[in-house]
This record gives sequence, structure tokens and C-alpha cells, in this order.
Amino acid sequence: MTSDDQALIDQLRVACAITRMPAGVIFRLSGNHARRVVTYGPPELVADVPLEAPAWRLAREAPALVPIVGRGPAAPEIALFPPSVGVNAAVTVPVEQEGRQFGAIVLVDREAREDLEGTDVTALATVASHIVIHLAPPTPVRGVMRPRKETLPPHVRDLAAWPLSVGAHDAVTGLPDRRMLEEPVEVALDDAEREGTGVAVAILALDRFQRIDDWLGRDVGDGLLRQVAERLLDTTTENDLVGRGSGDEFLAVLTGHPRGASALALADRMLQSVREPFHVQGYELSLSASVGIARYPEDANDGGSLLRYAGIALHRAKASRRRGRIECFTAELREQVERRGDLERHLRRALGAGELLLHYQPKVALDSRRSTELEALIRWQRHDGLVSPGHFLPVAEESELIVPIGSWVLLEACRQVSRWRAAGLDIECVSVNVSAHQFARADFVGTVQRVLSSTRVDPRHLELEVTETSLMDDVQAAVEKLSALRELGVRVSVDDFGTGYSSLAYLQRLPVDVLKIDRAFVKDLDVGGVAQQHATALTQAITGLGHSLGLEVLAEGVETVAQLDALVTLGVDAVQGYFFSRPLDASRVPDFFTLQDSVARRSSAT
Ligand code: C2E
Ligand code: MG
Ligand code: MG
Repeated sequence: MTSDDQALIDQLRVACAITRMPAGVIFRLSGNHARRVVTYGPPELVADVPLEAPAWRLAREAPALVPIVGRGPAAPEIALFPPSVGVNAAVTVPVEQEGRQFGAIVLVDREAREDLEGTDVTALATVASHIVIHLAPPTPVRGVMRPRKETLPPHVRDLAAWPLSVGAHDAVTGLPDRRMLEEPVEVALDDAEREGTGVAVAILALDRFQRIDDWLGRDVGDGLLRQVAERLLDTTTENDLVGRGSGDEFLAVLTGHPRGASALALADRMLQSVREPFHVQGYELSLSASVGIARYPEDANDGGSLLRYAGIALHRAKASRRRGRIECFTAELREQVERRGDLERHLRRALGAGELLLHYQPKVALDSRRSTELEALIRWQRHDGLVSPGHFLPVAEESELIVPIGSWVLLEACRQVSRWRAAGLDIECVSVNVSAHQFARADFVGTVQRVLSSTRVDPRHLELEVTETSLMDDVQAAVEKLSALRELGVRVSVDDFGTGYSSLAYLQRLPVDVLKIDRAFVKDLDVGGVAQQHATALTQAITGLGHSLGLEVLAEGVETVAQLDALVTLGVDAVQGYFFSRPLDASRVPDFFTLQDSVARRSSAT
């Protein structure tokens, strides 16, 4: 025993004497754990108090130097003593300094105690202040966060009182955010390991919530989220944790159930709970949701992995066309995760090792039948061959590796255009694909500007291809960024147009220059039958729409002369596709231009 421990026991004895309680325990709060430091009193009362417990079991009440006295068995602190002890009265004295609590004294008695009201509270406060020096954590603690309790639902209040949490409460629902749940999840896992029970992490995502938010406004969206939070709290028990993930996601951590028991029943209850219509500001709203689940000990032993795996299962649930699906993490999903992990590691290395390169596909103007523009398309030169972006960009997107990769593409394309122009090639513009992640970054416009000035490329020689979906994420922000890019003098095109679900009405608000019609429409222009009729009607509509907004219209993926003819008839301005040229290695681009020029000279000579 250290001298600190002895000093603490002495103080504990004084506290017991003041309250005339026979026994007591001092806990230290560290993160979201409460650790037993010393005990005082007969062993049959204190010996079996666990060495570690969730902090909320102690810190439910606002930390004030007022003991919570005589509350009998309903007090949460009682739960720290095994039922066999039969505790019927407890006094809890928070140990705190400068408003921060780092410990608690819990004094107990087997007898119910009516006489505690008259306890000398000041004397107890003095004892607590003597304890501070022995309990204070050696280093300052991050992010103390204590929202106003009375505005929060009861489960949340438990968490709100956690003294030293990292993370924050979500401002809309009052639920803890994902980071704040990390530690409680670890505690739940420790408990489960000791007690031989299971833990399930479920992530629930509301289907098509974004639409409600967009169409009916933020207030309705927020009101709906609050009601969903309440229903989820009602569905779960006191021991479970409920939190808010990002956007339309909620988290639930279910503890203390028998191992191997089905978490599906709970996921199903969660789904049912949101299925009943909601009433928000006069609207009746019906929702469906998807749930992903990961379990301890079956899927993982740590909270981080469980949360990640539940997210992966959710992703699978959402990918299915059927709404309201529940997916559990499986061995097959684990294999996928591992493969992705390998790919990500290799890709990270490839970026540093110079294994990424750009190919360039010519775009052809239909009036002149000449090409003066190219699209840069990324490739990965691996030892076993050239890999297409379809194989590695999704992984890059998920890991945010897409941001450094995107910056590299931008820089490389600008360097290349500058080399070609210096060599006298008539290349007016190179377009670069921009991923949603990249575009969403606050420093995106700055990055473009820096690359242009470092490579001394005139902005009019650069075009950025942005997809419909990245523009629709946050239309207002997109409008601002596009305007800033336009001001720089850079052109912007909307890539894969027609494949997103954006409303066309947004299009007129977006300051863009070119619409690129997706290959999905072009490929059916020569297949005959209803498919061709649909493709023709859609291409015609998109072309008309683009032109009415003053935009240039380019069709992607043209492979046959019949498709080309159809596009000429429909009045498209430019095309791109294997019919004219596949994407070329940079070294072959000058040949393409030389050939094009000699063909043009020959045909004008005849
Ligand atoms: P995208 O920007 O729509 O590019 C057009 C894709 O269609 C390219 O595939 C191109 O090789 C292919 N393509 C062109 N003409 C034809 C044709 O006639 N027939 C067929 N079947 N395909 C044709 P690729 O190079 O595999 O790129 C796929 C997608 O990957 C691109 O679609 C783009 O969204 C993305 N991507 C490519 N490079 C980059 C990049 O540097 N950054 C980002 N963020 N995305 C990129
Ligand atoms: Mg593109
Ligand atoms: Mg495209």
C-alpha cells in the first residue's frame, strides 16, 4: 500500500465517521471509467466492489459538493455493490477541483437511513477537498463537456454527467456523438468479457432522410431526428447506449445479453420503432431504415472494429434495393474488408513510388471533327499490368487517399499540358476528374489555384469534371465553389450527367460550362427497339436542356458510327469514345495530333 492509499483510507474513515456509515469506497474517474482506489469497512460490505465500472454509475448527479444522501436502493451507486451486500443507503460525495470531477466517495449502509438529512455537509466537503491531491490525474484531461442536463432524455443524461468524455453531444438530438461513445463501448466490452456476455453494435440509417431535409427544410428534418432519437431510446434498455452517427445515422450499443443471442430481434425492434408515422410541424412522415450489426465476441474484440464492421454491414444493407434491411457483419464481408485493406496499403505505396500515371482521351468537336481537348484518366502501373480506376478509386475514396491522389492528378495534368503546349501541340484544354471528396474540401479552390500558378498554366487550358452527385450534396456550397473556379478562369463540366438523381431544376443555379452525357444513354442509341427510343428521347432532352442553359453538350462513350450519326442528328456539340480514340499514353498523344492534322490537310486538299 502506498502512502497515498493510506492517506485516502484515513480520509474515508473520517467520512464514515461524519455520516455514521459503516463502509465506503473511493473511486477515481479516468476517461469514462471509474476505478476503485481504496475501500474502508468490514470486508463483507466492500470486498466485492468491482475494480472498474462505468463512470456514469457514480456521476449521475451534477458534480457539486453536496452529498446525495439516503436515497436507498434506487441510487445508481448501489449497483456497484453486489446484491448480496444488501445496501439500503448511500452517500455520494463528488471529489472535484475547479469544476472538474475526478473522483467520488461512496459510503454505504445496510440499513435504510432516515437520519442522513442532518449530515454535516461542510465537513464532508472538506474531506473531499483533502482527497483531491491524491486523486488528481497527472496530466490535464481533454475536452470536458457538460451540457445542460435537463434538456436531455434520461439515457443521455447518464452520459452527460460523464466527467471527462472526449467528443460531444449532437446539437440536434442531444445524443452523444460517435467519438463520445467509443469509451463506453470499451467499458461495455470489458464487462462483457468478465461476465461472459455479448455486445452488439447496431447502426441504423434512415432511408432517404436527405430528401425530407431538402424538401421540407432543416427544421422539419431536425424535428424528425429528435423524434427518431426518442423512439430509439424507448426501444433500448437502461444498460444500452444510444448515440448519433453522421447525418442520418444512429448508433445503438446493446450490452449484457447472452453470447450468441440474436441481435436481430433488437435490430428489428429498432426498425419497427421508426416505421410508425412521425408527426412533425403538421407533416405526417413515414420512414424506413436500414440496420448494420456487428457483434462481440463473434466479429471483433474492440469497439473501433465493431463500429467499423457495423458500418460495413450497414453499407451492404443500403446497397440492397429492398428498403428496411438488416445486415450482420459476416465472414464474407470480413474477407472483403481485408482485401480492401491490402489494396489500400499498396495504393498508398504506389502514390509515393510513382506507379500512378495518366492516360489522355481526345474529345472531338462535331462541327470541325477535330480534337483540341483531352480528358486525363488515371491508371495504376502495377507489376502485373495496368489497373483501371474502377478497381482502385472506390478504395481511395473510402480511405480519403483520393485527396492526395486527386492533387497529384491535377498537378501532373497541368505539367503535361504545359509541356505539350511548349512543344507546339494545339491542345486547348485538358480536363481532370474531381472526386466528391476532393471537391467538398474547403481548400479545393486554393489547391487548383496553387497548381495553376506553380505550373504556369493559363486557367483556360484546364477543365474540371465534377459529378452530379458531388454538386448535389450541398448545392449552395457547390455554387460558391464553382463561381470561384469560374472566376479563376477554369472551365467546369458536369460528368456522367443523367445518372444521378438530382433534380434538373438545380442545374440552372450551377455555374458550369459543359454537360457530359453518360455512356449509359449513348450505348443504347443504336440497339433498336424500345431501348433505343428511350435513349434517343433522353439524349435529346438532355441536349435541349443543356443548350437552353447555354451549355456545351458532350456525349461520352461513342463506339459506333451509328451512335455518332444519332448524336450528330440530335445536335450534340462534341463526343468522346473508342470510335475516335481510346485513352492514350501521354507519349502517344503527339502522334494522334500529327495524324489528325495530316488527315485534315489531305481532306482539305481534295
Ligand atoms: P469518366 O470520367 O466518365 O471517364 C470515362 C470513362 O469511360 C473512362 O474509363 C474511359 O476510358 C471510358 N471510355 C471512354 N470512351 C469509351 C467508350 O467508347 N466505350 C467504353 N466502354 N468506355 C469508354 P476509365 O478511364 O476506366 O475511368 C472510369 C472513371 O474513373 C471515370 O469516368 C472517372 O469517373 C474516374 N476517373 C478516372 N480518372 C480519374 C481521376 O484522375 N480522378 C478521379 N477522381 N476520377 C477518375
Ligand atoms: Mg470524366
Ligand atoms: Mg463520365
